[in-house]
Amino acid sequence: MIAIYPHFCTSPEAQLWRGCKVLTLIHECTHFTDVFDSNDGMYGISIRLSFWAQTNPDHAIRNADSLTCYVGFEE
Ligand SMILES: [Zn+2]
Repeated sequence: MIAIYPHFCTSPEAQLWRGCKVLTLIHECTHFTDVFDSNDGMYGISIRLSFWAQTNPDHAIRNADSLTCYVGFEE
């Protein structure tokens, strides 16, 4: 089950570097225990997340937004 805040309904379908439906769904799916069993150590898809990940690699590997970036922006 995924609980979605009502703002989700008015979010863009997909876009880079901002909140959107695709990234929200990816984020939420990473929390499932049979997917990545991720946590929310650091929120936000931004350059700040990248700097945090470099100094916290043990946490970043299971961080929902880090995984969201990996899945959502993989070319
Ligand atoms: Zn989360």
